[in-house]
Amino acid sequence: MSIAPTQSRRTFLKAGAAVAGAVLAEPHRGFADAKDSLRITPPLRQFGYGDVELLEGPPREQFDRNHAFYRALDEDSLLKPFRQRAGLPAPGEEMGGWYSWAPLADLDKPGNNGFAPGHSFGQYLSGLARNYAATGNKATQEKVHRLVNGFAPAITPHFWDDNRFPAYTYDKISIGMMDAYEFAGAPQAFSVLDATLDSVLTRLPPGGISRAEQYARPHRDDSFCWDEPYTLPENFFLAWQRGAGNRYKYLGKHFLADSWYWDPLAAGENVLPCKHAYSHVNAMSSAMQAYFVLGDEKYLRAARNGFEFVRAQSFATGGWGPDESFRKPNGGEVGESLSKTHSSFETPCGSYAHFKITRYLLRTTKDSRYGDSMERVLYNCILGARPIKEDGHGFYYSDYNNDGSKFYHPYKWHCCTGTFSQITADYAISSYFGDDEGVYVNLFVPSRVTWRRGTDRVELTQLTEYPHRPSTQIEISNDTAAAFAVFVRIPEWAGSKTTIAVNGKRAATSPTPGQFARIHRTWRKGDRIEVEFDMPTTLQAVDPQHPKLVAAVHGPLALFAIGEIPARIRPAELATVAQVADGSTNWQTKTATGNLAMRPFMAIHDEHYRLYQNLET
Ligand SMILES: [Zn+2]
Repeated sequence: MSIAPTQSRRTFLKAGAAVAGAVLAEPHRGFADAKDSLRITPPLRQFGYGDVELLEGPPREQFDRNHAFYRALDEDSLLKPFRQRAGLPAPGEEMGGWYSWAPLADLDKPGNNGFAPGHSFGQYLSGLARNYAATGNKATQEKVHRLVNGFAPAITPHFWDDNRFPAYTYDKISIGMMDAYEFAGAPQAFSVLDATLDSVLTRLPPGGISRAEQYARPHRDDSFCWDEPYTLPENFFLAWQRGAGNRYKYLGKHFLADSWYWDPLAAGENVLPCKHAYSHVNAMSSAMQAYFVLGDEKYLRAARNGFEFVRAQSFATGGWGPDESFRKPNGGEVGESLSKTHSSFETPCGSYAHFKITRYLLRTTKDSRYGDSMERVLYNCILGARPIKEDGHGFYYSDYNNDGSKFYHPYKWHCCTGTFSQITADYAISSYFGDDEGVYVNLFVPSRVTWRRGTDRVELTQLTEYPHRPSTQIEISNDTAAAFAVFVRIPEWAGSKTTIAVNGKRAATSPTPGQFARIHRTWRKGDRIEVEFDMPTTLQAVDPQHPKLVAAVHGPLALFAIGEIPARIRPAELATVAQVADGSTNWQTKTATGNLAMRPFMAIHDEHYRLYQNLET
């Protein structure tokens, strides 16, 4: 039921309504063609949340902080917007901001009250379910169960009356319920998912229509044209794979944005300019699920090409989409954004979407450069996000303006408070992958992954202060000696002096940058792999139109100038920036006007900073 590009809008809308009706009549559950009939199984497997443990270090710190924060959210407040519409007693404080109901006319009032009531409920639920799967924390599991049980009686079609974002909000509820079922064993979650879908189905847009198509339809005001139906297929297809029933597969196909997005992207046409950044990268995960479920290579091509178009207009940090929009290639607009906006990258949402699509693409292609891209976003973007505040104020935009600073968004409980709960839960499963030959080390974060080979249990422990120290140490622990491969990502930027040693003995040849290095041997308990990365510092122009506006990037780490920043700096001065001590997050270099201090994003607090420096001409 994908939308053929030759169909007129009218036939397409008619077909959409008919399909929605037909799907309503489908049996809700059906296990006939679930998991085992995926057309494409990606060669690399993801580990379970419980298989990977983050050890002490910045990712674990952020994971713990978010786990504690979201577990402490008031359940009555979370359920309030749903109970209110269901006519149920709705105790508890209003959360306010985006999360609560408010008159539609209040959209522009301070606080942006009522923008998207209840929108992030499902994401908080999803993040908590994943946190439970990772930690086994009973209090977290109980909270997930209580939230599912509290939500069930509050499902009503009236929730979607005067609701700007039925697709956007349903999509998040669906992943929340799926994760509550799959990862936290909430028995009711699938029937709640079904009931929620029943309540919203006739309110969803008539297919995976674009924003332009939403504007062309009758609408109350512009804010009613910003729903994101083109992101729905990923979770519909996932629901079907997890056994929710065949109608989810039909709906996944129905909401595929073939005509205006996947067909042109697959054909190599860059249709990203002017599109909303986060939702269109998030939608690329729908293309990957379509590829797995339907087996049509078009969707893989579309996702790969789309991601390359994003990469081509990314900042040195790996972030993208100034003012939440993609720009025309070769127009110099990314460089111009540095003096025009402070809203450079929608960080928690963008990082979540970035991690998701790079995981899918890495698992499918085994191309380690998707891991390179993921780690850039990890160290330069999301790990530097400020902690969410108790009152719901959260970090939203990274600021790459020439006078940049870290700030909280003025609106409470916005979109990035939802994705923040999920991205930190996903650090662990993004760090390692596996196949029949062995294990892939993708992220260099302090962590331990455990898996079984036949009846043996194998444990791989990684200790590192990467990227502040250019090395990582991996230790294998297994019950009995076993032959398998450990694949280590060698970043594309790695220099020729990068080395891998096993038990202190260096390999004769240096590993190839931009690939996974394969180390195959019979591993015995206590065997150690040591990787020393040759980390160069490069100067990266913001775009081809601004070759003298450059960021210093050391390995994966973008460096931000702080304090007295000279108006112009010589390339050699910037390229020789160095840590003040081994492992430090303080960097400095000598310039004509004195010492210039620099820091990575995650080490910046209240100080103003500048990512892109003006080179002397
Ligand atoms: Zn956001």
